[in-house]
Amino acid sequence: MRQSNLLIPTLREVPAEADLKSHQLLLKAGFIRQLASGVYNFLPLGKRVLRKVENIVREEMDRAGAQEIQMPALQPAELWQATGRWETMGNELMRLKDRHERDFALGATHEEVVTALVRDEVNSYKKLPFTLYQIQAKYRDEKRPRFGLLRGREFLMKDAYSFHEDFDSLDETYEVLFNAYKRIFERCGLNFRAVIADSGAMGGKDTHEFMVLSEVGEDTIAYSDESEYAANVEMAPVVANYSKSDTAELPLEKVETPNVKTMQEVADYLGHSLQEGMKAIMFKVDEEFVMVVTRGDHEVNDVKLKNLYDADIVELATEEETKQVVGAGFGSLGPINVPDSVDVIADQAVEYLVNATCGANEDGHHFKNVNPNRDFQVKQYADVRFILEGDPSPDGNGTIKFAQGIEVGHVFKLGTKYADALNASFLNKEGRAEKYIMGCYGIGVSRTLAAIVEQYHDESGIVWPKKLAPFEAHLINLNVKKDDQVELADQLYNKLLDAGIDVLYDDRNERAGVKFNDSDLIGVPYRIVVGKRANEGYIEFKHRETGDQEDIHIDEIVSKLK
Ligand code: ATP
Ligand code: MG
Ligand code: MG
Ligand code: MG
Repeated sequence: MRQSNLLIPTLREVPAEADLKSHQLLLKAGFIRQLASGVYNFLPLGKRVLRKVENIVREEMDRAGAQEIQMPALQPAELWQATGRWETMGNELMRLKDRHERDFALGATHEEVVTALVRDEVNSYKKLPFTLYQIQAKYRDEKRPRFGLLRGREFLMKDAYSFHEDFDSLDETYEVLFNAYKRIFERCGLNFRAVIADSGAMGGKDTHEFMVLSEVGEDTIAYSDESEYAANVEMAPVVANYSKSDTAELPLEKVETPNVKTMQEVADYLGHSLQEGMKAIMFKVDEEFVMVVTRGDHEVNDVKLKNLYDADIVELATEEETKQVVGAGFGSLGPINVPDSVDVIADQAVEYLVNATCGANEDGHHFKNVNPNRDFQVKQYADVRFILEGDPSPDGNGTIKFAQGIEVGHVFKLGTKYADALNASFLNKEGRAEKYIMGCYGIGVSRTLAAIVEQYHDESGIVWPKKLAPFEAHLINLNVKKDDQVELADQLYNKLLDAGIDVLYDDRNERAGVKFNDSDLIGVPYRIVVGKRANEGYIEFKHRETGDQEDIHIDEIVSKLK
């Protein structure tokens, strides 16, 4: 395409609102423009790359046997009310009313819609299993939209949902999609890890996150270079996977809470939105008060929780929840703010958690991500072990390291949670109605694009991996006032197009310096410069990544690019 009539508004200055390289470069190089906080336009270059990421995702999803559909972003409130998420999603859910004052939400995710669709359209085990997916805008009114595409309020997600008659089938599909995710992020050229997410209560095998290693990532992961081992450390658990027999030896005792708080209050002071299933659990170990707040963004599997241990627990949740929970689970909410209003017991518990940012793996090992500014005493309760950087990896291979990660994908075994709430069942072989067992699988497509820029840039601009670049080659005519150069450049442009090469042609009447700067900023892998030697039929050929350049004859170009 001719650059003279393409909308590529490059900037000379780093935009003031952008702190991160990916955000700065995507703005500077004219790929995106902000419309409102966390809401972006994709300009021609941005749209091209987005489509490439999308296509990689689409190809691998299709190959994994998933079927592409498209569900509406506009969703009636009734569906969200049926699953309870109208309440528990809190402010993150974007809400609106139609002219008849009926409530709607903009899809933050599509479990409700897809479950209702399958409930109404499928009724036999014979159709199972199957996986539906879409690539579509999602809306989340994030508390802190920031870092450009990394945390938007409208962003592109690939979300997939699988439906099964039993857990074996779910496990199979989960593995197929897990491997598809690996291929997707490999094809995107990313340095990533698949990590165990929220492993304690979930048993470690039921949910994984795909984390791009990057210092700007908001998650902390523990991993070992010598093995596949990796876990999210975000969940700050304090208790381990006690089995009932261990409990007898534990010095646990019941604690009275003077002020029972509502979950909303607990969520508020943790600076987190109230999530479905979130529970705050308080107990006492060795004169230490410990509060564990379990994440609620998925089924904190009560069955597994029950297997943990039977300590006497006073929790801050509702009475009903008090009856259900007989054990403490993992997964808190990251860094915790201590408000003045917290009562004494909660205060000590919170302080304890502030001092320890830990994660757990499926064996109940705990990681302590050492904050060098704190004099933290590693504590040991029964089989709770804090693992420090350099300690042996729990799988016995290599040592533990900590790193920051950007969550680009998340795979999850949901069980029957949504089928139960929306009464979605099929007839099994015996003709009896059974609830669907489901899995869900997300990829942040626009976030992935930004993560690629985080990993692929230098001081002059973006350095796109070949398969993701907005164009394959950047043809630059250095002087549009010289007829022989224009003639050669035009001729080359057509030749490249004929050879099926996607070429960006800088035919603008601009100074050479401007053209070179823009070209480096945009980051197309190969640059072809028509300059002084045009009359001899020679052009300059430059590799963006290495900076290697050579003069080559125009007849050689197509073979160079193939
Ligand atoms: P995060 O922990 O970053 O808030 P999440 O766990 O809430 O993400 P999921 O519900 O797992 O997100 O959604 C699936 C994927 O969508 C995520 O793995 C991420 O790649 C992407 N995603 C989530 N929120 C955003 C956002 N605000 N902007 C861009 N991408 C997002
Ligand atoms: Mg989120
Ligand atoms: Mg997350
Ligand atoms: Mg997630």
